Amino acid sequence: MLTTNATDNRNNGWDDWRWQLANSVTNIEALKQYINVSPEEEEAFRQVSERYSFRVTPYYLSLINKEDRNDPVRLQALPNIQELEDIFHIEQLPSFHRSAVDSENPLWKEGKTDVSCIVHRYPDRVLFHVTNFCATYCRHCSRKVHAGQDSIVTDRALIDKGVAYIAERPEIRDVLLSGGDPLTVADTKLEYVLSRLRQLQHVQIIRIGTRTPVTMPQRITPEFCQMVKKYHPVWVNTHFNHPNEITPEAKIAIERLLDAGLPVGNQSVLLKGINDTVEVMKELVHKLLIARVRPYYLYHADLVRGAEHFRTSIDVGMDIIENLRGHTTGFAVPQYVICTPLGKTPINPNYVVGTGPGYIVLRNYEWRTWRDPDRLDLI
Ligand SMILES: *Cc1c(COP(=O)(O)O)cnc(C)c1O
Ligand code: SF4
Repeated sequence: MLTTNATDNRNNGWDDWRWQLANSVTNIEALKQYINVSPEEEEAFRQVSERYSFRVTPYYLSLINKEDRNDPVRLQALPNIQELEDIFHIEQLPSFHRSAVDSENPLWKEGKTDVSCIVHRYPDRVLFHVTNFCATYCRHCSRKVHAGQDSIVTDRALIDKGVAYIAERPEIRDVLLSGGDPLTVADTKLEYVLSRLRQLQHVQIIRIGTRTPVTMPQRITPEFCQMVKKYHPVWVNTHFNHPNEITPEAKIAIERLLDAGLPVGNQSVLLKGINDTVEVMKELVHKLLIARVRPYYLYHADLVRGAEHFRTSIDVGMDIIENLRGHTTGFAVPQYVICTPLGKTPINPNYVVGTGPGYIVLRNYEWRTWRDPDRLDLI
């Protein structure tokens, strides 16, 4: 799938994540060495990458089937002219929604603190932005206006402020390292954050949210795993959206994390034309279970400027969950959630179809109903 030139590189550095970062494609000229780009696409890429960050690792590019314009990895990684056209649709929205998408993701507004790297939306847990850099900028990212911007670079002084914020608040028992992608920074910097957090008695668990197992699995080195396991309990959440992303390389990365004692969960985003069918989603969750990754959340795509073309209707997500629950292994089924300014909210098909004095009427996954006794004292 790669040009001869790029294939040769497999032998001198391909397996090294620093090589993957250094050789990431960030402009149209480099991209043309990997895939065929029509003149119209070239023009679109130029326009879009002026507004939104563009970067993709050679590894993630290599997963693209060049013959397929609608390849799921291509759609997630390469700029699309629709990112600019979205604006027109958003302007037609009611004013509440317009303000929510105007410049920032509503989530960010909600949990904002005085310390720019800390988002504190729920009392007992915080997001800690270690960097705003990603190995690959996903076109559907809900933080796409922030991604890659210099204005929120997290230096040592800001990290210290973030740690101090947590240290002052004993109610924080769960710290989620986020970004950008926290695993794009060096092990030494990560170890600094992890060791500082571990000095705080009230921090029970640390979570790392990273897409590197998907876009740059070479990042999960034995050295990284040796380092991180000193700071347990540490959990990882990653972001596989399509079965094509579960490659032998990704499986090695996951296996290393699991062998180091880090449980691995997956947060997918429901994306139009990528994973918005029962078939694709079922294959994804089954492949995740084979890799011992627990599907955690299925996010309804956020209302984000530049990513509107990925958004499906909520019916699509409900139908997927309806066709998973009961039809496959219980823990293959992620929790479908929608992010609103009020926080993450679960959306579930309804299995309670009626109630009466002392009973509840349930239906199962086959739509058979059952009257189950409830408050017997009421009968
Ligand atoms: C998603 C999120 C969390 C973590 O939520 P969990 O349901 O515990 O995984 C924490 N803070 C913010 C702001 C979030 O968006
Ligand atoms: S890795 Fe995560 S934060 Fe980075 S661009 Fe993708 S979705 Fe956004």
